[in-house]
Amino acid sequence: MTTSDGLTTGVRARAKRSVLISGASIAGPALAYWLHRSGFAVTVVEKAGAPRAGGYPIDIRGTAIEVVRRMGILPRLRDAHIDSRRCTFLDADGATVAALSPRAVDGGVGGRDLEVRRGDLAAALHEVVRDDVEFLLDDSVDTFDQSGHGVDVTFRGGGHRTFDLVIGADGMHSYTRESLFGPEGRFHRHLGYCFALFTMPNTFGLSHELVLWNTPGRAAALYAVGDDDELHAFLTFHRPEPPLAASRNPDAQRDLVAAAFADAGWEVPRLVDALRDADDLFFDMAGQIRMPRWSQGRVALVGDAAYAPSFLTGQGSSLALAGAYVLADSLATHREHTAAFAAYERGLREFVAMNQALVDNGGATLFPTTARALEQRDTMLRGLVTLPAATARPAHSALTLPAFTPPLLGDTV
Ligand SMILES: Cc1cc2nc3c(=O)[nH]c(=O)nc-3n(C[C@H](O)[C@H](O)[C@H](O)COP(=O)(O)OP(=O)(O)OC[C@H]3O[C@@H](n4cnc5c(N)ncnc54)[C@H](O)[C@@H]3O)c2cc1C
Repeated sequence: MTTSDGLTTGVRARAKRSVLISGASIAGPALAYWLHRSGFAVTVVEKAGAPRAGGYPIDIRGTAIEVVRRMGILPRLRDAHIDSRRCTFLDADGATVAALSPRAVDGGVGGRDLEVRRGDLAAALHEVVRDDVEFLLDDSVDTFDQSGHGVDVTFRGGGHRTFDLVIGADGMHSYTRESLFGPEGRFHRHLGYCFALFTMPNTFGLSHELVLWNTPGRAAALYAVGDDDELHAFLTFHRPEPPLAASRNPDAQRDLVAAAFADAGWEVPRLVDALRDADDLFFDMAGQIRMPRWSQGRVALVGDAAYAPSFLTGQGSSLALAGAYVLADSLATHREHTAAFAAYERGLREFVAMNQALVDNGGATLFPTTARALEQRDTMLRGLVTLPAATARPAHSALTLPAFTPPLLGDTV
C-alpha cells in the first residue's frame, strides 16, 4: 500500500542498520524522520541541552515545502507562518527609498512558500521524531574511528558506541567535517560580509515588517515578527578578508561592529547600543561551504555542514530539508553506503549549485558595497511591482523529489 507521502508501507527491514546523526536543528531531525521510516535504528546527538526555541525567521520554499508536506507538518507550519507584510528600504538618513511586498524582494511565492521562526520549524521537526528515535542531548562526538566494520564513536560525555553509519548535520562550523575532511578554511568561501544578529525591545512600533537601512557596504535591519515586543536586529558590513581575531571573542565582535557603524545615521546608534547589551548576540561571517565530496567512508554530511549557501540566499533551511530527504531516500534505495552516498550527490549537487549561485547572480544585492551599486539597487527597487512573484525561482523548486523508496529487505551497508 502506498500512502499519501509516497511511502510504501508494510515492508520491514530484517536487520536494522544503525545510524548516528550529529546535530538536531533542521537537517538532523528531518533526516532522522525519513531514516526511521525506512527501517534504520536512529540515534541523534545534539550538543545543546534542548532543541533551540525562538530565533530569527527563516524561509521554507519550493521543494522544501513538499518535504514538510510529506512529513505531515505543513498545516502546523502554515499556522506558524509569519506573514510579513512590508519591506521598507531606507537611505543613509532614514528616508524611504521603496516599500515593497516581501515576496517581490525574496522571490517567494505568496500563498505557498512559508516564513517561520527557526525554532518553530525545529520544534515541529523534533516533535515528529522524538518518540521514534534516540536523542542524546547535551553531548557530542569526540572521536570517529572507521578502521573496523562500522564507525566507532566516543562521546564527550564518556560513552563509546559503534554505528553502521554516521551523518554530520552539525551546521556551518561542523565538527564532523573538521574531523573527517579537514579544517573549515579548506571548504569555506568567504562572501565578504560580517554580520551580527541579536534581539532588542520593539520600541519602534514595528509590526509584521522588515526595515532595511543601507549605505555602501553597510546595512542595518529591524525585523518585526508579527506583533512581538522584541525585534530581530541585524547589522552587516563589508569586510573582504575574514576578521579572524574576532571570530570567537564576543567583546571583540561587539567592538568590530560598533567601529564599522560608528558614524551611521538613522536609528543605527540605538541598534549599536542594543548590541552592547544583547545576551543573544550571534556573530559570523557570511560564507558558503563548498566541498568536492560530501562523504568519506561511512560518514556523510547533510545541510549546512555540507553545502551551506549563506543567509544571503535565504535557502539554507530549504536545502537542509531537501538534502535530508534525498540522502534518506538514497540510503533506503542502495545496499552499499558508497552507492547510496554517490546517489545522494548525484541527486542533489545541481540543486545545491543553483542555490549557491544565487549570491553570484545578484542574490546579494540587498547589501551593495559601492555607491554606484547601491544607486542601481535603489532604482531597481523603485521599479519593482509590489505584487507577489507569480512563479517560483528555479533555484527554489527545480528539484523534483522521488517518491520515498521502501526499505530494502535484508539490507547490508
Ligand atoms: C542570520 C541568519 C539568517 C538566516 N536566514 C535564513 C533564511 O531566511 N532562510 C533559510 O532557509 N535559512 C536561513 N539561514 C540559514 C539557516 O539557519 C541554516 O541554513 C539552517 O539552519 C541549516 O540547518 P542545519 O540543520 O544544517 O544546521 P544548523 O541549523 O546550524 O544546526 C546544527 C545543529 O548541530 C548542533 N551541533 C553543532 N555542533 C555539534 C556537535 N559537535 N555535536 C552535536 N551537535 C552539534 C547545533 O547545536 C545545531 O543544533 C539563516 C542563518 C543565519 C545565521
